[in-house]
Amino acid sequence: MDLTEILTHLGEEREAYFNSVAPPIMQSSNFTYKTFDEFRRVLKDEVNNPLYTRGCNPTVAILRKKLAALEGSEDALVLSSGSAACSAAVIANVKAGDHIVCVQKPYSWTYKLLTQFLSRFGVEYSFVDGTDPENFRKAIKPNTSLMFLESPNSISFELQDIAACVKIAKEYNLITVCDNSYSSPLFQNPIALGVDIVTHSGTKYINGHSDVVAGVLCASKAMVDKIFYSEYMTLGTNISPNDAWLVLRGLRTLPLRVQRSQESAIKVVEYLEQHPKVEQVIYPWSKSHPQYELAQKQMRGAGGLFSAVFKAKDLATMEKFCEAMAPVFLMAVSWGGYESLQVPTALFYKLDSLGEAPSLPFTMVRYYAGLEDPEIMIAAFEKALELI
Ligand SMILES: *Cc1c(COP(=O)(O)O)cnc(C)c1O
Repeated sequence: MDLTEILTHLGEEREAYFNSVAPPIMQSSNFTYKTFDEFRRVLKDEVNNPLYTRGCNPTVAILRKKLAALEGSEDALVLSSGSAACSAAVIANVKAGDHIVCVQKPYSWTYKLLTQFLSRFGVEYSFVDGTDPENFRKAIKPNTSLMFLESPNSISFELQDIAACVKIAKEYNLITVCDNSYSSPLFQNPIALGVDIVTHSGTKYINGHSDVVAGVLCASKAMVDKIFYSEYMTLGTNISPNDAWLVLRGLRTLPLRVQRSQESAIKVVEYLEQHPKVEQVIYPWSKSHPQYELAQKQMRGAGGLFSAVFKAKDLATMEKFCEAMAPVFLMAVSWGGYESLQVPTALFYKLDSLGEAPSLPFTMVRYYAGLEDPEIMIAAFEKALELI
């Protein structure tokens, strides 16, 4: 289905709500039926029919249809956060005694799901360098049941050859999950490469306005049903109708926003790559990326997220530099909204409570190019780089 059809028309039933162009927010916890026949029919198929808003809500249902179509999956669920989506996808497919093989350096709360949460329930895990798919094979054990991918990850942007990983997973009958937040459904579709479940942080590009936390899970009808009737309903990880409506509004402009963000990122990356005070720029769409060819093969674009390493001698210099950048690249977590952002790895130094020594150099900063004029971003670098 074509992108315009999905974003503008799919799932909209305008005649059912006074021909309004924008859909209503169905702000109702429950839905009423007049006959036993109807009520029983809905009770038997709660995943597809409005009965109670923890399950199916009509405003959320519009979003589910559009997101499934964007990812090329049979069905989708929209959840209260991206972390809820990743957790539901994993928890639904493991039991005590199982083992998960996961790409190294996944999103921080995915890491904690395996190391601190599921480990309490007797689920084992291994993290592997996913740049070589054979590393997954080497880590697979007789009790491995699930492979978790995140390509690229969202700080150092290492890729996995998704089709090659799926091939290995299928040999061992593993369920595959891929966190596709970096690419958005526009630039990469792991379902088409054989992945079973695709997850997104809807907070990032999909909502795109830095005002909602949401998650998305795309899979076959059977898998969505399975997750709906267990994790989704028991843990109560539904999105509110109001937030779903905001995500729906954000989604209308997804292609415009992600395209603009990518165009600006490319300009800033080109500027930084020639700057003498820059050690390295990491961006999958740059020829300098060690997996550039793989990115070109399995992605259609890379969006606005990239990292840079600077030739700063000490932490204090990095702190001054980043603070000087802060009027244009706001110091804040997350990404995918309208505003440019930076997450300096220097932040993780001097943080005793984290317990672990930071694995990334203090000279690295992850940037997100928002929707501002890219010339303003470059001018900010030009001035602040004098501090290094
Ligand atoms: C932000 C993020 C998540 C978690 O999403 P939330 O909406 O914040 O819960 C998961 N994976 C990646 C790659 C992310 O960037």
